[in-house]
Amino acid sequence: MSRGAAARCPYCKSPGRIRNSEEVSLLHRDVYIDCANDACGHRWKAQLSFVHSISTPSGVPIDLPVTPHRNRRSPRDGEPPPVPVPA
Ligand SMILES: [Zn+2]
Repeated sequence: MSRGAAARCPYCKSPGRIRNSEEVSLLHRDVYIDCANDACGHRWKAQLSFVHSISTPSGVPIDLPVTPHRNRRSPRDGEPPPVPVPA
């Protein structure tokens, strides 16, 4: 995915543009995307969800999953989310 494009259209592979989004919860949004290719005209709904923190602000207590330092890599399919690192 190129920077600035929300996602590529699964039909014509053109960039998609976010038309609207709705907050479902603090960690989840539904996103409505339009294909930028007018000849295609595909519109779709996607989901944007928090997975885990990569870097956290110092001095702010956060109770969310954080990537362990020793294990910073992309999760593989089917892999459970990382556990929070004890403070
Ligand atoms: Zn398209």
